[in-house]
Amino acid sequence: MATQITTGTSELRDITKMERIGAHSHIRGLGLDDRLEPRSNSQGMVGQGKARKAAGMILKMVQEGRIAGRAMLFAGPPSTGKTAIALGMAQTLGPDVPFTMIAASEVFSLSMSKTEALTQAFRRSIGVRIKEETEIIEGEVVEMQIDRSLTGATKTGKLTIKTTDMETIYDLGTKMIDALAKEKVTAGDVISIDKTSGKVSKLGRSFARSRDYDAMGADTKFVQCPEGEIQKRREVVHTVSLHEIDVINSRTQGFLALFAGDTGEIKPELRSQINSKVAEWREEGKAEIIPGVLFIDEVHMLDIECFSFLNRALENDLAPLVIMASNRGMARIRGTKFRSPHGLPVDLLDRVLIVSTSAYSADEIQEIVRIRCDEEDVSLAPDALEVLVKMAQETTLRYALNVISTAHMLARKRKVDKVEIEDLRRSYSYFMDEKRSVQWLKEQQGSLVF
Ligand code: ATP
Repeated sequence: MATQITTGTSELRDITKMERIGAHSHIRGLGLDDRLEPRSNSQGMVGQGKARKAAGMILKMVQEGRIAGRAMLFAGPPSTGKTAIALGMAQTLGPDVPFTMIAASEVFSLSMSKTEALTQAFRRSIGVRIKEETEIIEGEVVEMQIDRSLTGATKTGKLTIKTTDMETIYDLGTKMIDALAKEKVTAGDVISIDKTSGKVSKLGRSFARSRDYDAMGADTKFVQCPEGEIQKRREVVHTVSLHEIDVINSRTQGFLALFAGDTGEIKPELRSQINSKVAEWREEGKAEIIPGVLFIDEVHMLDIECFSFLNRALENDLAPLVIMASNRGMARIRGTKFRSPHGLPVDLLDRVLIVSTSAYSADEIQEIVRIRCDEEDVSLAPDALEVLVKMAQETTLRYALNVISTAHMLARKRKVDKVEIEDLRRSYSYFMDEKRSVQWLKEQQGSLVF
């Protein structure tokens, strides 16, 4: 088995965060003040103050690195903001702390076992902040020679750069030539090249003459190489997840599997090898562990084997904060004949911090509808707003929010700018909410085949 563990950070940087568009795109955080008190309408969040405050307190503990192997459960009726609050937490944590979101039903697939799927979700939620040194070439461009006869496949060239007291010639490959061309670098420019990422930046023409090379930033140091050349190095930091390190080092998968989204099963030996390597990096001060958050929606859909896996996995040193959400009251624990609160076994419930969410008031619904209309660039006639609030109270908030876009489409078809009651009424007649759908199914019993 390969012993060198790679992190492949440059390939991964862009795909580590899931894009959150659609139903929750108006959520920008938890909307709390510095004392973690909920503001009534802030960062897209309205109401549900107690749950938001509880979420903020847990987040603070995550940020201070004081929480690992903990679990919390958002329990409440449908459309009461459980997912919205979890996403608000993700936004607050920022891009450097991993946040993974899965629906419990995703764990059941033919391509991998349930426990493998959960292990991957756990490891996606643990970040490793790695410090690396990259060599920086910096100075005034004296001359650039590029062999232009070689078009297409490989271009080569030489770059002569002058620092304060010496001239150094660098051999260039296609990637570097393209980067120099992109920045329109010519002789006389002062540039900096990061040799790891190949990033080229222009620093301005007067830089070389005016700059004291010994007074660089604290993250930059000069290193004497065996050939006598002086190299300049800068420390760069990037964060990857343990799962990404697993996949890149898995011989059968390779990092391209990350783009395909299907990483298959990963051997336990590889994982333990990576755990020891990361522990080594930590001891050498090269890496830091960032415990992130794993959000499992519809957690009552997991079965008893998954729950016992969760119980065990939460004991692990490298466990993220696990947030679960369920809209069930008493429910059967899947894989057993027993019923329990939220369909979770009591031993798991016992270690979970439970945060409840409750139905919104008419005023809160009105605020949320307004925020969504702004987000979707829809204007509502005042009486239509009232109808939509009523609709949300009689169906669910989610249904009413969905009606905004369909009614908007109908209004546009009528060639008017404002959504009016008429558009809501038509949209309501085209698309059923859950209650009407159940009613309809009852009426059709006998004539439908399932
Ligand atoms: P379910 O149990 O059905 O999964 P849920 O409790 O997870 O429901 P969400 O999906 O979070 O409910 O909420 C439904 C819709 O209402 C989403 O578009 C969400 O962004 C919005 N929403 C819910 N609560 C709030 C809130 N407090 N502030 C702003 N928007 C909210």
